[in-house]
Amino acid sequence: MEEVRLFDTATRSVKPLSASDGEALKFYACGPTVYGPAHIGNFRTFVVQDLLVRVWEAAGGKVDHVRNLTDVDDKTIRGAREAKLPLGDFTSKWAEIFIKDGKSLGLTPPMKQPKATDFVPQQIDLVERLVKAGHAYEADGSVYFRVKSFPGYGKLSRLDEREVKEGASGRADADEYAREQAADFVLWKAHKEEDGEVFWESPWGKGRPGWHLECSAMAMQIFGETIDLHGGGSDLIFPHHENEIAQSEAATGKPFVKHWFHVAHLLVENRKMSKSLGNLHTLKDVIRHGWDAFDLRLVLLSGHYRQPLNFSWDTMTAARHGRERLGRVRSKLEEAAKGKKAGAEEWGSFRGAWDALREDLETPKALAALYTAASTVEHKRKAGMSDEDAAKELAGLDHILEVFGVSALFEKQTEAPAEMKQLAKDREIARNAKDWTESDRLRDELALKGWEVRDGAGGWRLVRKPGTP
Ligand code: AMP
Ligand code: ZN
Repeated sequence: MEEVRLFDTATRSVKPLSASDGEALKFYACGPTVYGPAHIGNFRTFVVQDLLVRVWEAAGGKVDHVRNLTDVDDKTIRGAREAKLPLGDFTSKWAEIFIKDGKSLGLTPPMKQPKATDFVPQQIDLVERLVKAGHAYEADGSVYFRVKSFPGYGKLSRLDEREVKEGASGRADADEYAREQAADFVLWKAHKEEDGEVFWESPWGKGRPGWHLECSAMAMQIFGETIDLHGGGSDLIFPHHENEIAQSEAATGKPFVKHWFHVAHLLVENRKMSKSLGNLHTLKDVIRHGWDAFDLRLVLLSGHYRQPLNFSWDTMTAARHGRERLGRVRSKLEEAAKGKKAGAEEWGSFRGAWDALREDLETPKALAALYTAASTVEHKRKAGMSDEDAAKELAGLDHILEVFGVSALFEKQTEAPAEMKQLAKDREIARNAKDWTESDRLRDELALKGWEVRDGAGGWRLVRKPGTP
């Protein structure tokens, strides 16, 4: 297979990504916490991971991609209580929405999407092993990892000894005064009143697993003690992934992860996304503003994944113009190829874009190469191109679009189903009656169902929006 190089957070260097001989790449990605809709920042991380999967496959490799669902933690428990729903009902609803949004954004479904609550016995086992080996201790019904028992602690995030001692345990509870050392983190949480019905029986009494533990237990259960590639957003380097290494390696004595893959954050108007600033966008918001999910996908891939990326509505306009141009080049090539087909392995003039992706997922370079190649091909076509050459260039273009995960944008338009036509007719009636609220509502309903209504001289027309369910 062709070489794919990727930055490794542990060694701070770009190195070849590798799987064991003849085997699929074992790739574990920390998935979403399912207590509300994922925001477009979360999706930056998942889209970049999806790109890696596509690049690895296009390079000739196989991959077993696992992305978990975090369905028990403080936020999910609080959310379920507020919604007056059992935890499982509450989290399944949000998991379903996450999967649907992911589908709209062209995410290839992972091989497995394990839920943390389905792996509680394995998590209890892991805690017991750590307690037996002296790496963990019980206090007040909770169990903590003894950081000073694991000399490698801090190696991923490069904490120095002082920082390790003082501890910055991230999502740890303020009331965990029972810890021996500030840096010690919780593996198993004793049941508290506000946890209500959410608990499991354990050797330490009623309780629930800590967040860090979930990923170690699921990854090792599914893949074994060592995985090839593990990743998430850059906020997970510390403490989440540092703690995963400590728990897993202290228990097995084997390296937990061969290659670490972290994606820098998405900012909105140069600020961290937050509900209070009103700049937290979901896919639904983006579609409501009239964009396609695939425009967002292109924006999320427009910056290099190791640099923070700034989202603004202008970036969406640029992405849409770019892909419309590609669409025009593509249809001209299709005409010129006159039905001739070239092999799906063909790159034609788009080889440069592919090579840029194989080198640490250099998407800005790859997109620039893609647009430049599209212009060159278009010039050549205008100057006169054989059917065979057009077929080759078309295959190359389709190949790179597939790797970017946006091929669906260029599929043929399908006719709108009767239900959508009816909605469009109702909207026309509302517009004629100058009932703008109703006509806007109907337009939004159509948009959410994946159809854009375009008004023109001859009346309205329905256009399928790619990337909507
Ligand atoms: P969460 O649902 O908070 O557990 O996050 C799911 C994934 O999204 C994790 O890999 C996070 O690191 C990642 N993430 C969270 N916020 C952002 C952001 N603004 N940009 C990119 N990735 C993010
Ligand atoms: Zn994780």
